[in-house]
Amino acid sequence: MQQSKPAAREALTHDIVIVGGGLVGASLGCALAPLIERYGWRVAIIEPAPMAVQPQETTWQPSFDARASAIAEGSAQRFQQLGVWEAMRDEATPIKRIHISERGRLGATRLSADELGVAALGHVIPNAWMGRVLHQRLAQLPLEWHCPAKVEQLTPVAGGHHLQLSDGSQITAGLTVLADGGRSGLKEQLGIGSRHESYEQTALIAHVGVSQPHGGMAYERFTAQGPMALLPLPGQAMELIWTHPSGGEKARMALPEREFLLQLQRAFGDRVGRFTRVGIRHTYPLSLVTAEEPVRPGLAVLGNAAHALHPVAGQGFNLALRGVMDLVEALEQGVQAKRPLGDITTLQAFEKQRSRDRANVIRFSDGLVRLFGFSFPLLPHARAAGLIGLNLVGPLRRGLARRAMGLER
Ligand SMILES: Cc1cc2nc3c(=O)[nH]c(=O)nc-3n(C[C@H](O)[C@H](O)[C@H](O)COP(=O)(O)OP(=O)(O)OC[C@H]3O[C@@H](n4cnc5c(N)ncnc54)[C@H](O)[C@@H]3O)c2cc1C
Repeated sequence: MQQSKPAAREALTHDIVIVGGGLVGASLGCALAPLIERYGWRVAIIEPAPMAVQPQETTWQPSFDARASAIAEGSAQRFQQLGVWEAMRDEATPIKRIHISERGRLGATRLSADELGVAALGHVIPNAWMGRVLHQRLAQLPLEWHCPAKVEQLTPVAGGHHLQLSDGSQITAGLTVLADGGRSGLKEQLGIGSRHESYEQTALIAHVGVSQPHGGMAYERFTAQGPMALLPLPGQAMELIWTHPSGGEKARMALPEREFLLQLQRAFGDRVGRFTRVGIRHTYPLSLVTAEEPVRPGLAVLGNAAHALHPVAGQGFNLALRGVMDLVEALEQGVQAKRPLGDITTLQAFEKQRSRDRANVIRFSDGLVRLFGFSFPLLPHARAAGLIGLNLVGPLRRGLARRAMGLER
């Protein structure tokens, strides 16, 4: 760990500073609204990309790219608490059923909202829309925006952290929340290490047209090359998440549309009829990254900066949103106990709460990738038996569904 010199106590300019206004930082800004109102906190968000509030806005933060995310029912409830769900649902497609299968095997398991007595198992929402709704809500709150600006230097000082911004401003805050996605180098600047395990896989993402109505079905299909998923979008369109062994995606990115669709058809089969078109294709290298010190005095690390997961189970943002809500709850409890913001007792209580949830979700997503990634001779049969068995065993399947819905930690 990098040793930082004990700094002289500096006057705080802000109570809380959020580094990064992506999905997670923006959600935290919204979640802090009642506490800002109650305690008159001075809160700032720093974000290098422009705010996504203008309808003609075309530049997106990394968070708000062409992806659509599977938002669990539990996250929809959390968005409701933040006052953004009504607007989010305008572009949300409900997931009514989930179909999990392995290519070339009989085993399949099905989860349905009807069977579980819920309106939807989750919702698919374009990231760009989520960003716009969150930023529109933030624009109504008494929060300061430093945008476009990025944090260049983050230094611990007595009672908090000092931040040097690219626009020349300086901030000293009692609590700094690092929601920068983990690629800015700020964690490293502070000497916070990360465990990094590459899956040697790259996800290819695109919108695809399908010839049959999807009926709100989400598909998770395990293939020899890696998992692929199709999430329902409005009309006869779906979001494709197609995992490739790293390097293997390059040829597919370069394929003409017709050939791409043929290969997709071969890999996925005909459960959604014919694939009729493909939109712009994007790729994401996949790794499991976890921050070794998610909290320190005056500092909390959230979202991708704290944990980047394989998207196989669509859990990364759902997990992060639970972190956002838990942090706000811990801060409230800290205030009740008359502890200063950024007090390590408060942050450790928060981390204790997070660590179990995080470990469970990592075990779940990572376990799925590994279970279906191995090719020992007997494993496919065991997996198929598992999938069939899961379909027969009600409570197990319901447990899986509750986790997919973000209702279970
Ligand atoms: C292919 C794929 C599919 C996924 N699908 C799902 C899904 O279906 N469901 C789900 O729950 N999750 C999903 N995820 C995970 C989800 O996308 C992430 O959890 C989420 O985007 C993390 O958001 P974030 O705000 O932490 O980080 P980011 O999205 O990286 O945002 C970080 C922000 O910080 C800003 N920033 C960077 N450096 C600085 C700096 N120096 N100063 C200030 N600001 C800075 C950036 O501009 C950016 O706006 C998926 C991930 C991938 C890769």
